[in-house]
Amino acid sequence: MKIKPVRGTHDLFGKEVRKFNFIVTEVKEIARKFGFDEMITPIFENSELFKKPLGEQSDVVLKEMYTFKDRNEDELTLRPEYTTPMIRSAISNGLLNNLPSKFFGTGQMFRRERPQKGRYRQFNQINFENFGTDDFFADIEMINLANQLLKKILPNNQITLHINTLGSRENLQNYKKVLSKYFKDHQNSLSIESKSKIETNPLRILDSKNIQDKETVLQSPKLIEFLSQSDLKSYEEIKDCLKDLNISISEDLNLVRGLDYYCHTVFEFKTDAIGSQDTLIGGGRYNGLIKTLGGKDIPGIGWAGGIERIMLLLNDVNVITEDIHLCIKDPSLKKHALKIYDYLTKNNFSVYWNYKYNLKKSLSLASEKKVKYVIIVGEEEKKHNNYILKNLSNGEQKALNLNDVLNHIK
Ligand code: AMP
Repeated sequence: MKIKPVRGTHDLFGKEVRKFNFIVTEVKEIARKFGFDEMITPIFENSELFKKPLGEQSDVVLKEMYTFKDRNEDELTLRPEYTTPMIRSAISNGLLNNLPSKFFGTGQMFRRERPQKGRYRQFNQINFENFGTDDFFADIEMINLANQLLKKILPNNQITLHINTLGSRENLQNYKKVLSKYFKDHQNSLSIESKSKIETNPLRILDSKNIQDKETVLQSPKLIEFLSQSDLKSYEEIKDCLKDLNISISEDLNLVRGLDYYCHTVFEFKTDAIGSQDTLIGGGRYNGLIKTLGGKDIPGIGWAGGIERIMLLLNDVNVITEDIHLCIKDPSLKKHALKIYDYLTKNNFSVYWNYKYNLKKSLSLASEKKVKYVIIVGEEEKKHNNYILKNLSNGEQKALNLNDVLNHIK
């Protein structure tokens, strides 16, 4: 019986897993620099956690969630995103008493989307969240952090920051009504998919990729006309500070983001280099969400990035090879080889045991792997209780006892 992987899932190994780990290491490093604590939450949650906050009419809730009943008939969902679980965890564990609270996490998310390049049904996200402040500096901090991370991981790629403001939740409600009316009046020129969103989710029509919708969207009422003076002012201040940080921005009045909980600043980091799934990182403010989930009425801001999408742009990361290969001439010498194997690994060296027991094969594997040293274990060495240490870069070799091998390679 040959069991196939589930559609939309993928395994990571070799080069790909090295890229993955490299990204996670950089995420942890940037989190340390900006003072974010790691949080790890369960992969599944009670389904109600996601339904209302993400929007009962959002694509994620309507079509993409992996929801199932367990034996107790409890309805559970594999997390499709990380912001709501992190908020749930902060509330459950009383982490919102000293504000602001800044958390990050990495882990698997699940959405039953149509698989394509850069889009999977199980994928990994990086998440940064800041709970409890309205200070516009938090918006800048979030964007700056994302920008620094991408620059560090992908120094040679052209990545553009798209930014918009949605204003307060109340403004947004008013705007949605106006937008619904406008699209209703122009429904004949909309695609079938967009038509279905007129009443329930008109904002999503704004970022429709269907050419048929383009002209109608272009002529639609603009959100910016609904913003208050103070919202506009802080948006201007954010853009100004980003300029001071040399972060170039592309203002995008149709950027609304997919999930219902966003308001005020929204942003995406995009690339031209990986096809249609071009957003590497997306995020924004979600004032009101923490209260919706049963917490205090405090604001929040965060972003999520796709690790697999970043991997598509990442060239090979350096392969970490072992320091030393053991070349054991014959299986009868295992016990003698074991002594140096144990000694060196306990002294922090990585040593590779290749199970070949054949000098020629062992040496050729060692040079293929580009290790610097090999240790040759033969009958003579066993007799004299020593080992031959050979430096593959200059060909020099010496017979040495345990201690001297260590001193030499140190
Ligand atoms: P979202 O939560 O939809 O804002 O997504 C945040 C980021 O996660 C996106 O910008 C992508 O980089 C990544 N992402 C979202 N959905 C998928 C998916 N199905 N497969 C791979 N990456 C994804």
